[in-house]
Amino acid sequence: MEARSTAAKVLVVGGTHGNERNAAWLVESWRRHPARLRRGGLALELVIGNPAAHAAGRRYLERDLNRCFHTDLLADPGRRELEVDRARELLDRHGPAAADPCAVVLDLHSTTAAMGCCLVVYGRRPEDLALAAALQGRLGLPIYLHEGDPSQSGFLVERWPCGLVVEVGPVPQGLVQAAICRQTSLAVEAALDLLAAARRGDLRLPPRLVVHRHLGSLDLPRQADGAPAAVVHPLRQHRDWQPLAAGDPLFLDPDGVSLPYRPPPELEGEPVWAVFINEAAYGEKGIALSLTRREIWPVEEGWGRALADLAAGLKGEEQLLPPG
Ligand SMILES: [Zn+2]
Repeated sequence: MEARSTAAKVLVVGGTHGNERNAAWLVESWRRHPARLRRGGLALELVIGNPAAHAAGRRYLERDLNRCFHTDLLADPGRRELEVDRARELLDRHGPAAADPCAVVLDLHSTTAAMGCCLVVYGRRPEDLALAAALQGRLGLPIYLHEGDPSQSGFLVERWPCGLVVEVGPVPQGLVQAAICRQTSLAVEAALDLLAAARRGDLRLPPRLVVHRHLGSLDLPRQADGAPAAVVHPLRQHRDWQPLAAGDPLFLDPDGVSLPYRPPPELEGEPVWAVFINEAAYGEKGIALSLTRREIWPVEEGWGRALADLAAGLKGEEQLLPPG
């Protein structure tokens, strides 16, 4: 493949959700002191995803920014919610077709669920799978593969040719914690190092990739008026990435009665692993936890080639210096 005519940067976004403060804190610190971030020699664009929501300390003001990146929604001139306009602005300034484009995006989030430091991959683009496999090989990060859920779509990373979400938790909304920042920056530095290796043409991928593939989500049991009728069971809280079997305690009602996991008919007899258990922001989406299947995939040669082709068009840090 021919190198792109316009060299592209790597976009690093923190604060896509305004109440997730750790990555936003890092982005602001890196902007003030670029030497604090080991960037693998790559030219970066460091951006606060949703500055208005960040200033307000809220996840979003009018619409979840990380559900605004539908091409149809962005193209609809009648849609003028603050976050839809912000999504357009991010693409105009830093999208793959911008005057000063970015070809890769790392979108940094935090969660109240005990997910540890993990990656979220949307769909099966080879470039994303290559970068995720390389990161898993380097740091052992678990991967949540999100696909095939029409009720949850329009994610930021989908509009760039390659993009991953780094998700770190548990941390309460609104709080900055040193350990969460440290895990986030380690993941970013490893990703940049691996992209730099891909740019040089010497990225080595591990032979296998372990993914937790999204199957669906479960809501809390609800009263007739929609109010929650139970909470997540204390034995399930903070047990992200662990298997969930039929009959395991899942919810607890106000009388202290355990409500066991009953698989939906389509998942009958299928082993599942739970993720994003009791994520505070997902209550409004009717999600108490998501169910996944753990799968081990052979890493395909084409993934590495696709990422190398993309990374060959990335701009080096030295290309940011003024000429002369
Ligand atoms: Zn988030």
